[in-house]
Amino acid sequence: MSKYEKISQKEFILSYYMERPNEDIPHADIVDRVVADYPKAYGKPLRDPDRMIRSLSQEGKLLKIAKGVYRYDPEYQKRNELENFTPADKATIMERDGYKCVVCGFGVAEGVELHVDHIKPKDLGGKATLENGQILCGRHNYMKKNFKQTETGKRMFISLLRLAQKDDNQELVKFCESILTIYDEHGINGHIRWK
Ligand SMILES: [Zn+2]
Repeated sequence: MSKYEKISQKEFILSYYMERPNEDIPHADIVDRVVADYPKAYGKPLRDPDRMIRSLSQEGKLLKIAKGVYRYDPEYQKRNELENFTPADKATIMERDGYKCVVCGFGVAEGVELHVDHIKPKDLGGKATLENGQILCGRHNYMKKNFKQTETGKRMFISLLRLAQKDDNQELVKFCESILTIYDEHGINGHIRWK
């Protein structure tokens, strides 16, 4: 399947949600219809509609209301679009940050791909303002996404450590401290203090 076909299949699915704006639509309603209608329109089967619906939700085009229930909200779409950097914003931020990653300093000269990143992520309310924009290389953009996971992990080990200290479980205290020391050794999530 070509990339173009994938996009058009997704858009095909999205159009069914767009016909019923602001409605919480159970998954089966849509899947049954698109699976039946797509071959009539394009002469071939629609593959993996479930995955495409999940992907539309990850892209912010559908709101996930409950398991298997999604909603198309035109107002939300408008606001979401507003929080994307415009090409002009991106050019200004690139210029300001000197066309290089603010973390490692690598740029086009070193052949790395550059992204304009929301410092405070959109899903946490980060706006498309120039102050909230920064350049990251592909690697650091990816790491930033991952760091959220390590933050979650660190907070969980801190809770476990506190519990182990309270219970005077020395074995578990040692285990948690070892893991948290590894965080420190790698300089990861130093803003979360545990000592
Ligand atoms: Zn970088």
